[in-house]
Amino acid sequence: MNIAILPGDGIGPEIMAEAAKVLDVLRRDGLKVETETALVGGAAYDMHGHPLPPATLKLAQEADAVLFGSVGGPKYDALPRELRPEKAILGLRKECDFFANLRPATVFPELADASSLKPEIVAGLDLMIIRELTGDIYFGEPRGVTGEKGHRVGINTMHYTEAQIVRILHAGFRTARQRSKRLCSIDKMNVLEAMQLWRDIANELAPEYPDVELTHMLVDNAAMQLVRNPKHFDVVVCGNMFGDILSDEASMLTGSIGMLPSASLDANGKGLYEPIHGSAPDIAGKGVANPLAQILSLAMMLKYTFNLPGPAARVENAVRKALASGLRTGDIARQGERVCSTAEMGEAVVRGL
Ligand code: NAD
Repeated sequence: MNIAILPGDGIGPEIMAEAAKVLDVLRRDGLKVETETALVGGAAYDMHGHPLPPATLKLAQEADAVLFGSVGGPKYDALPRELRPEKAILGLRKECDFFANLRPATVFPELADASSLKPEIVAGLDLMIIRELTGDIYFGEPRGVTGEKGHRVGINTMHYTEAQIVRILHAGFRTARQRSKRLCSIDKMNVLEAMQLWRDIANELAPEYPDVELTHMLVDNAAMQLVRNPKHFDVVVCGNMFGDILSDEASMLTGSIGMLPSASLDANGKGLYEPIHGSAPDIAGKGVANPLAQILSLAMMLKYTFNLPGPAARVENAVRKALASGLRTGDIARQGERVCSTAEMGEAVVRGL
């Protein structure tokens, strides 16, 4: 197993250091894994003049999986769009054809009161949002702004091919099969033709998965149901834009951005695993970031790319033990609670292993 490690910017290297400690324990206990580290994002721009240098891309392409930290920071905000650190993630997704974004929203019992919703609504929440990453309004042509001031027109195009819809829906059905066998497909077929196609294809594929119950929901209703009764959902599959919005909404249900991992997978199970949060420039360098999303990203990698549910569960249980011991980083601490450091939390997970 070859893992490319790309820590990135801001808190990325700090939280990656804790994930590396976890990986060291697994390796000591027999996991056959090789790692190689490379610069990405702003750090790569500073050194090589590009956020995704050819050597970093090659490393990612040749690895079985990529463990990614986070990129970006105010220092790079004035750069041309194609040199911004965030371009590195888009480049990796495109070059490695990572088209399926898996974002779990899980509420650990110890943190049920960190949510802005009532604990009884979110306690035990465990849902998975699968977002398509390569199509939709973010890539469709024509696009742009035309016309003179006073008469300008802004255009973006929702564009989906059948092949793009088919492969993401298959990813949804397969994931549902591994979980509760319930798949909710989100669309906006009442007003968008591209979404009517989405719904038609979902219905056409359903007979291939007779063990999975397929339901449909319009995106506006889904946005409401996610805050009204989130436990209604198990696996949710949607297009790029709706998934962008709904997955952020779902992550807020859990109360902490510092707890949530994600995966972006290709058709063969190779993936890029990263926390959902960014580089948190406001706390970078202070040693206070929550490393758990990064560590849980490693657990997802063990499960989804390496098909090792045992070691993945071992890491997740170690995270649970660290939380049960009462340790809290600033983002998940209640008022008055002692706040621990990034390293303290990482070491507690290592002890939990
Ligand atoms: P952010 O996720 O970095 O931070 C939002 C808030 O959450 C901040 O207050 C931050 O301190 C806090 N936070 C985030 N992760 C945390 C953690 N692990 N522990 C404790 N607190 C945490 O979002 P932002 O401030 O909007 O963006 C900062 C930079 O990150 C920008 O340059 C943005 O483009 C970039 N970004 C990168 C990625 C990525 O690398 N995939 C994703 C989102 C944003």
